[in-house]
Parts: sequence; C-alpha cells; structure tokens
Amino acid sequence: MLKFHNTTKNIILILLFAISQNLTASDKVSTLERRADSIMRIMVSEYHKQYKKPFETINLTDSTIWNTRLYKFCKQLPKGGELHVHSTALLAFDDYCSFLASQPNIYIQIEGDNIGHTLYQTDPYDVPAGYLPARTCLSGNYLTRDRCLKLYTFNGGSQPNPWKDFQPIFRRIFNGAFGSPENFEKYMENAFNIYVENNIQFAEIRIGSTMDRDIFLSMAEMIMKACNNVRKKADFHVSIIGTGNKGYSLEEVQKRIDNVAYVQQHIKDTLMGKCNVVTGFDLVSNEDCNNGFEYYYDVLKKCEHEHPDLKLYLHAGETKNTKNDNIMWAIKLGAKRIGHAFNMYFFPDLYNEIRQNDICIETCPLSSVKLGYCSDMKSHPSIEYIHSGLPAAICSDDPTIFEHTALTDDFFAVIAEWNLSLSEVKQLCMNSITYSSLSKKAKKRIMKDWKKRWAEFVRGIAEQK
Ligand SMILES: [Zn+2]
Repeated sequence: MLKFHNTTKNIILILLFAISQNLTASDKVSTLERRADSIMRIMVSEYHKQYKKPFETINLTDSTIWNTRLYKFCKQLPKGGELHVHSTALLAFDDYCSFLASQPNIYIQIEGDNIGHTLYQTDPYDVPAGYLPARTCLSGNYLTRDRCLKLYTFNGGSQPNPWKDFQPIFRRIFNGAFGSPENFEKYMENAFNIYVENNIQFAEIRIGSTMDRDIFLSMAEMIMKACNNVRKKADFHVSIIGTGNKGYSLEEVQKRIDNVAYVQQHIKDTLMGKCNVVTGFDLVSNEDCNNGFEYYYDVLKKCEHEHPDLKLYLHAGETKNTKNDNIMWAIKLGAKRIGHAFNMYFFPDLYNEIRQNDICIETCPLSSVKLGYCSDMKSHPSIEYIHSGLPAAICSDDPTIFEHTALTDDFFAVIAEWNLSLSEVKQLCMNSITYSSLSKKAKKRIMKDWKKRWAEFVRGIAEQK
C-alpha cells in the first residue's frame, strides 16, 4: 500500500536529510553499546527462528513470548516516557479486567442492548436490571475471557470502516472505571505502577476535556494524586493534554480550550517547583470523516496567543487518504508534536519542515496495524521516518483496546520487525524525554536518571552471550 515509499524523489530526500543532519549515530556508540547491539540482533533472530509466523498473528499476551530474550530486553529497556496514550485505555486488557473486578461499585451489563457496558453505582438498589457486579461477571460464569476480549479489545483492521466498531468499545469501557474520582485515582495509580514496572519514567496522558471545567479539574487532580502516590516508591512524572473532538463546532472547541487553560491554572506539580501539569491541547477522532485542521485554524491559532503555556500536540495524518493534509496544517499551527503522522509519505516535502521546526512524530505502531492503516508491521511508514532521522518517539495510543502492555509491546514490535539498530532504539527513548511537554526541571531530572538506567541496561545486555 505504500506506493510512494520508494520513489526516487523520496529516497534522495531521505539521503539529503541524513547527510545534512550528520546522522551518524554510530559515531557516538560506545564499545559496550556495539556489543549490546550485536546481542540485540541475536535476540531478534532467535525470536524469528522460534516464531516463524507473521508478527500480526503473534499473541502478545502469550506467556511463551514473554519468556523470549527479546521480550525481556524490551521490558527492561529504559524507554523514557509515554508521549501518546488516552486515559480511557491505559491499562493492558488483563489489567483492566482485574481492575474492574477489584472495584466493589463497578457493574457490567450482561443482558440487554449494551452487553459489556460498565457502570459505577454506589447504591446496589439503584443498579438497573441486566447488570451484575464486575467481580461476579468476570469470575468466568457470565463473561469469559474470550467474551471480554470481544467486548473490550479491537483487532478489526481488515474491516472497511474500523472506527465504526472501535468507538463503541470506548463507550463500553468508559463509565465504570471513571464513575467516581476515587475510582479514577485508583485506575491511574494502577496504570502508573505498570509504567514503573516497565521501566517508564513518565506519561503524558490525553484526556477528553469536559464541558464542565470543574469535572475536568477533578480528573486532573486525581491524576496528580495518583502520581504522588506512586512517587512514594518511584520517581514518576505525569502531564496532561486536554482533548476536544474534530467533530466539534468552532465555539465548542473554543470552550474546551478555555476549560483546559482554566484547569492548567488550577493544578500544579508542587514537587517540581509548581510547574504546569496540564501542558497541551489536541483534537482527536477519525480523520476520514471529520473536520480538518484548516477548519479550526483560526481558533487554534488564537489559542497560541491567548494561552501561551498551552501548546498544541495534534493527532494528524492518521489516515491513508492521499488528500488529507492535516499534517501540513498541524505544522502551520506550530504543533510541537504530531500524533501518528501516518500519511506523511504522501507529502515528502513536509519531511524538511518537520525537521526544521523540530517536531516530534508520535509513532503508534501497534495501533496503526490494529486499525488497519497498514497491513503489517513491516509496511508501517514510520520505519522510513525513523531511518531518515526524523525526530520520533514510540507510543502506545490505546493499550486496553489493542490488547497490549504500554510501550514494552510497542518496542517489541518495532525491534522485531523494523531492523533498528541499538543507536536508533536509544534515540527513540531519548526523544521521548527531549520532546516531552514536562517542565525543564523535570526533563533534566528524568534525562539524568535515564542516562544512568541506560548505562546499566547496556552493561547487562553486553554481558550476555
Ligand atoms: Zn491517539
């Protein structure tokens, strides 16, 4: 499908980039890193020998995969941070189900029109007919694991309109987990602990901004509280990017921006010198059937002037449409990062603009394959973007729905399938810190810690055979 990938023009542009940016990552490679690079490549070939089938048919929840050296490498890899994940789908599928079952006030519909719909209810007498406590449902008698997989995960990239089935999953998942501030805090704490276990130092979470700004403020407060709880055991950081929808009117987008800016003023990270927790704004949803950024240009440009501390981190180019020019508009709008940038290979002239404006591409490899934007991992266009030295970071998007563990599984996919060198992997991890929206103070602290983690990690890998 990537017809334009290997056009002569494109290849020349890439080479010019590489030369102009002096992209000789190997210049800076230490002896230990060179050794670790060889071991990583051995791990990749061991994995391919053991699993001869296409990556897309591999079940990442299969414990035999977790026992491969390559998977363990990806889990231990100091990944830096997560730059693109949605609050509604942070936990891996099994962790999400365990979370539901652990909460006494969450119910699941097992009969009626919305099977699988989650609900928060403190008074059991007010629970509507057809709902049972999540714990009861998930014990196996009512909703088996296979049934839950069908209800809460998505693997429908081959369908003509995957978003049609994808969006109802969000609605099913949504209410139960987020029904009360306390639930939301526990959910977030769970997710942050899993990030820490996977050697991830921070997360930038996209949250749908609400029409009522106090509800959004309460969600932001719970996220900060969850982060502070996790900080009792590990150095973890968080920031929030408020989102609107590409289907909204101009007035509604303006209102959401104002609400996000209001919350930005009312919540600070006191441990990091009272820096902002809310750092950006984005417009999400299916780009093939909603408004483009051209439509929102004035309102988003005004945001830059009215709220200079609220930067734009925009989903753009998550489409195979050759005419969709959202990436171009995102660049014009001064976006600091671009979510997906999938269809940029149709616009090779933009590569230079991405480089000149120092914009980072938030690549979500498993998400793109599961939603069917590319047929397999090997044809993902970000291979080209990364090999050409464009700033990119690996992100997970919606771990629950795509049935994977945030970042560990995404790195596993790209290291197994994209023929990356260890230098390129290192750059992806460092980019996540460099291009994060966290405060200068937090970034400095995270980068210092990351360098220590990286040195230890490389030493450990280099000592293996
Ligand atoms: Zn996304």
